[in-house]
Formats: sequence, structure tokens, C-alpha cells
Amino acid sequence: MKTKAMLMGLCAVLLVISSCATTTNKTCSKILIPAGTEPFPWPEDFDNQPQPTVITPGPEDRLPPSDAIVLFEGEDISPWLGDDGETARCKVENGYLELNHTGSIHTKQAFGDCQLHVEWACPTDIKDKDGNIKSGQERGNSGVYIMGLYEIQVLDSYQNKTYPFGSTGAMYGQYPPMVNTCRQPGQWQSFDIIFRRPLFDKDGNVIRLARVTILHNGVLVQDSKTFNGSTQFEKSGSYTPHADKLPIMLQDHGDTIRYRNIWIRELPEL
Ligand code: MG
Repeated sequence: MKTKAMLMGLCAVLLVISSCATTTNKTCSKILIPAGTEPFPWPEDFDNQPQPTVITPGPEDRLPPSDAIVLFEGEDISPWLGDDGETARCKVENGYLELNHTGSIHTKQAFGDCQLHVEWACPTDIKDKDGNIKSGQERGNSGVYIMGLYEIQVLDSYQNKTYPFGSTGAMYGQYPPMVNTCRQPGQWQSFDIIFRRPLFDKDGNVIRLARVTILHNGVLVQDSKTFNGSTQFEKSGSYTPHADKLPIMLQDHGDTIRYRNIWIRELPEL
């Protein structure tokens, strides 16, 4: 297999060299991409092509655009349910919701491919009841579970060492963030998450992996990265067939964690 792959690579290089050598255009490049993804030709009636849908952006980038579904704007917790399927029991005050041994919360609505904005803040008090500084996974541990299955880790990773694929912005247990751009405890932070769901065939086989891009505080930390499967503790993840859309979960991991300004845009299928 290795020899075959090397031969194919060599052929591809020779194809590029021969292609450029036979043309007078010195800047030409052969595009080597899978069949079916070639660029479409420039249409003759290009001026009459369908226009992009017009939406109104939020007054600030962190605020929902006109086509977003608002999941939490500061007071109304009705888009969410508790672990028992009943009313979410989290505390709501001063424009944020707070999870603190009150159970994880789940959106009533199910989502698949999406763009999700969420802001969160970890506690300023980083001492335990005995006055010792907490460390690692003990500080502000929570998580944004897309489809209730694929966790983006929320943690106070400011000057707080932990295993890399368990730090803030990690695809938990699978891939660490590209950088640690965590703010100090108590400060509001943001995730902007673009998620593409996995696809399964009729036999339950995975034919497209789940994929995510994440900006943490405006900084790219995951770049179109694929999940090995749903998030599991001390396992690297595995897939089981599931619905095209499932609720989003915000995890109550037993630490105090605050969330605010949560909105989502459903994305068209690729
Ligand atoms: Mg977590």
C-alpha cells in the first residue's frame, strides 16, 4: 500500500510538472482535487445569479443576527430543560444563568449543522472549602455538548495546567486547542462554534465524521477538526448512529459556571 501511494504521489507531481511545462502561462497550477469538487465554470449570466439572503447583523458581533435563534438573552430560560426533562433549575440573575449542582440543561429544540455563540465565565474564587487553590479539572469545569454528544470543553485554563485535551477549547478527550487564550477567572469569554454533524448510511456506518471549527475569545482554536466519535471519559470516542438533530447540552460538572448571550444559527446541509 505504501509503495502504491508513493507511486501515485510521484505521478501527480509529474502531471503538474508536465502540465506547466507545456504552457506559456508561467503562473499556472494544476489543481489536484477529488473528482466532483472541481470549480464550476464562470457562468455567462453571472450578473443574474441568485443573491445571498440578506440578514441584519447584531449591533455587535457577539449579539445575535436577525436569522439566529436566541437560546438565552438574560432572563428567559424557557428554551431549556433540566436533566429530568422538566424545567431547568439553574439560577438566573443579572443577565446570566448559573449552573451549580443544579443539573445540566438541554435545549428544547434539536439542532444539527449549526453556528453557535455562547459566552461563559468561571468563578473568581479558586479555593476549595479548606482554603487550598484548586487546580486542573477542578476549576470551572463545564462543557458545551453539541448534539448532546460532542463536547467542547469549558474550563478555567488561566494559569491552570491540566491534560491538554481536557483544557478550554479542547474537543474533550480527543484534541487540545491550538492555543490557550483563556481569560482570568470571572471575566466573560466566548466560543463561536461552527459544527457539521456526522452522516450515517442505512446500516449505521459513518460516511462523514462530525467536524468543528471553534473561535475562543475571537481566536481560532480548532480548525475544521473531525471528532473521533462522541465524547467519552478515558476513551478517544466512538460513533453510534443518531438522529440528524439533537438538543445542545450545557454541562453541570459540579462546579459553578455562568453562561449568557447564547444564540444559534441553523446551517444548510453541505
Ligand atoms: Mg467538561
